[in-house]
Amino acid sequence: MPRPIQASLHIGALANNLARSRAAAPDARVWAIVKANAYGHGIERVFEGLRAADGFALLDLDEAQRVRTLGWRGPVLLLEGVFEQRDLELCSRLDLWHAVHCDEQIDMLATHKTHVPHRVFLKMNSGMNRLGFTPSRYRSAWTRLNALPQVDEISLMTHFSDADGARGVAEQMAVFASVTRDLPGERSLSNSAATLRHSLPLDAASDANNWAASDWIRPGIAVYGSAPDFPEHSASDWGLQPTMTLSAKIIATQTLSIGESVGYGSSFVAEQPMRIGVVACGYADGYPRICPTGTPVLVNGVRSHTVGRVSMDMLAIDLTALPAAGFGSEVTLWGRAANGAVLSIDEVARCAGTVGYELMCALAQRVPVVVAA
Ligand SMILES: *Cc1c(COP(=O)(O)O)cnc(C)c1O
Repeated sequence: MPRPIQASLHIGALANNLARSRAAAPDARVWAIVKANAYGHGIERVFEGLRAADGFALLDLDEAQRVRTLGWRGPVLLLEGVFEQRDLELCSRLDLWHAVHCDEQIDMLATHKTHVPHRVFLKMNSGMNRLGFTPSRYRSAWTRLNALPQVDEISLMTHFSDADGARGVAEQMAVFASVTRDLPGERSLSNSAATLRHSLPLDAASDANNWAASDWIRPGIAVYGSAPDFPEHSASDWGLQPTMTLSAKIIATQTLSIGESVGYGSSFVAEQPMRIGVVACGYADGYPRICPTGTPVLVNGVRSHTVGRVSMDMLAIDLTALPAAGFGSEVTLWGRAANGAVLSIDEVARCAGTVGYELMCALAQRVPVVVAA
């Protein structure tokens, strides 16, 4: 019998979340972002749930190849573009669209030999200062690209630093709008947060400079059922469903008298008599070691919490109020329990001082994964 832990992926939830993202920008086409192996889910495993996407966007050429191997003939976009000259040969061969964010990438294109010109997304650094041409250099980059026989259509792209927070997207949107005003081509601006928070058709209609909903949105985290702006909004506020459940079983129970401790470092000491469950999940499975006592879990679908330090292969939970739970009981670390109750990955991430993205991406290789409806 294998160790009783598993991750379940929910194909119907992926399709629901993709549809929710699309509904926020109904006139746009949707890049399903599948970088980082589909945010830790596995590209091959989630593909069926994301079939309704208009294209797949990612960073890694190897992942792009895997999307083609799945039989996807539609658009595939490399969000960081190419890293070296020979990557362009793969772009030509697999018909990959690619971002162009720096002069070096234009240099590589200018010497690339191809019969079929490439579709490119010219990236503007509109304030995030990560990738892209600054507003003052953007148009000259466009002109240079436009003169290359290796280049077909040029789309215009930028990325927001604060779509999930108080600063919002207005400043970056205004920069993008003013620099690109008379340039032809499709636009792509919005990640999940910008799509859900800033692209409502009403907003866009009242503001001619609001490009948030055009022409290609780029939802990632929303597709994987996590709220981009938790705790201001929860996933369920946005109509998003968990796509990954991490569950394990109780493999032992202990009873504590007042003053007894649990786990390494004796960081938790019982102040009253307690019953403890030991769960077959630890930091080597991707459950953050930093989660403190009190991090929520579901036991047979009922909320409880962790106690003491998370160790490599196990963690401890409080069963004092759950006398029916014991050896073999199902514990949901995040996601959906068998009774339908949901523990949002965002809540657990918050206890760890991080975001749902990091938890799903860190699911360990050793955890068996099952794909469910
Ligand atoms: C990762 C990424 C996205 C998706 O971001 P989410 O916050 O997960 O929606 C969109 N655009 C670019 C350029 C990205 O790198």
